[in-house]
Amino acid sequence: MRLVFLGAPGVGKGTIAETFSAEAGLAHISTGAILREQIKEGSDLGKAAKSYIDAGDLVPDKLVSDMLAEHLKNCKRGYILDGYPRTIEQAKFLDDLLDQLETPLNAVVLVEIPEKTIVERLTSRLTCKSCGAIYNTKNQPSEKEGICDKCGHELIQRDDDKEEVIVQRLKTYESKTKPLIDFYKKKDLLLTVDNSGSPEEAVENLKQVLSEKEE
Ligand code: AMP
Repeated sequence: MRLVFLGAPGVGKGTIAETFSAEAGLAHISTGAILREQIKEGSDLGKAAKSYIDAGDLVPDKLVSDMLAEHLKNCKRGYILDGYPRTIEQAKFLDDLLDQLETPLNAVVLVEIPEKTIVERLTSRLTCKSCGAIYNTKNQPSEKEGICDKCGHELIQRDDDKEEVIVQRLKTYESKTKPLIDFYKKKDLLLTVDNSGSPEEAVENLKQVLSEKEE
């Protein structure tokens, strides 16, 4: 199965993608996580991407699309694309790439929560410094405060989860990424999952809409 997860920053795409990909044996490809890894390693790509990420803007299409193509060409199983595409340009690039690979998308999942909860969720999100696992002090805390349940390393707040950057990220989503909803609706690929409850409920909801699509 090949899926794209779409949605505003803070709607919980990453958490649902992490849980569902592990259950369904899919690769979880998060372009944001790959870029953060590149920054940590100090690669040329990481250096080029950092200022955009810190400002809450999108990294230029070409950089992210080349990086993604490398990953997809080497990916031998189904996957969830989490955070890509984020512009119409990227969506067209993905279409062409998947045409060449003869591996079309099965569905695009729009994850939604009420707008007023978005900032609250982002400012209370913590990420593991080492493995990137996602927690939330309000609705998904780690067992031991500040420590990752999975690998025991420290949990930190992402620099771009600070309130001033969040405002810019939401603006970027509205202007650049939201048009993808119509783009994929027209291709009859769009499914919607409500994530206003617990992550477990959202994963159940996702399974439901996927099985309805298959029928
Ligand atoms: P995320 O972890 O998905 O919230 O991504 C964090 C940041 O990485 C975003 O705010 C962007 O600056 C950058 N980024 C991730 N994916 C993309 C993409 N597909 N296109 C451009 N920038 C991206």
